[in-house]
Amino acid sequence: QGQVRDLSVLLVPFAGGRLLYSRDVTQLQRVETMRRDFIANVSHELRTPLTVILGFLDPLAHDQDLPVESRARFLAMIQDQAQRMSRLVEDLLTLSRLEAKSDPQREEPVDVPALLATLLDEGRALSGGRHRFEEDIAPHGLMGCPLELRSAFGNLISNAVRYTPEGGRIKVRWARENEGALFEVSDTGIGIPAEHIPRLTERFYRVDKGRSTETGGTGLGLSIVKHVLLHHQARLDVESTPGQGSRFRVLFPAGRMVASVR
Ligand code: ADP
Repeated sequence: QGQVRDLSVLLVPFAGGRLLYSRDVTQLQRVETMRRDFIANVSHELRTPLTVILGFLDPLAHDQDLPVESRARFLAMIQDQAQRMSRLVEDLLTLSRLEAKSDPQREEPVDVPALLATLLDEGRALSGGRHRFEEDIAPHGLMGCPLELRSAFGNLISNAVRYTPEGGRIKVRWARENEGALFEVSDTGIGIPAEHIPRLTERFYRVDKGRSTETGGTGLGLSIVKHVLLHHQARLDVESTPGQGSRFRVLFPAGRMVASVR
């Protein structure tokens, strides 16, 4: 009885009269495990800043003799952690919107050089003068969703800044390549050991949790990038040498290229 009920539930995603093979059950079990892991991860990611917030609120609310300096420091900590939670919720919403669709949410010719000028300004602001920036930007545009592309390119640029120590170099390139269009960010940062590269776009996958959190990471940036690129039929290539730097290359198909948007 229980088994029959289970099967009818399992059949829902495979509706259309198809038989349920054991392979499908394995697949469904995998999806279920991923879902459970995801909920556990989100809960954990939210609990950590919440614990800090609650911990600092307590003395603020109850300790009449708390020195003014401590008060200011505790409030700054609370603000910091609340911002972290807010970033996480924003990224989760972005990701769930992207995952719900298989196409770009709105397509139009995107002025990529203008978009990159804005994103480079944001990257320089994040760097605070600690890195040298280089750019090599061709004039063509791209057919796609401006908001999605902003989010994907922005994540790759901010990662380069966040994982490159002071004094490093960050280079952004937009070019034609093999009939298609290429967006490339290279840095002289900490790099990524080869065994981690295939898993980078998994939700909450981080090579070094400490460094990710310290620099404001949510662990969702590259998952967002992955979905945007899927929507645009683009491919991501990552090359990296630990201690020397990384290069993230995004290759768009020829059909998406727009000669000039201006
Ligand atoms: P996060 O918010 O942790 O940066 P991402 O999904 O953007 O999450 O990236 C996943 C992980 O990939 C990061 O935690 C980091 O370990 C690694 N990573 C991403 N970009 C770079 C880079 N340019 N250099 C070195 N490591 C990187």
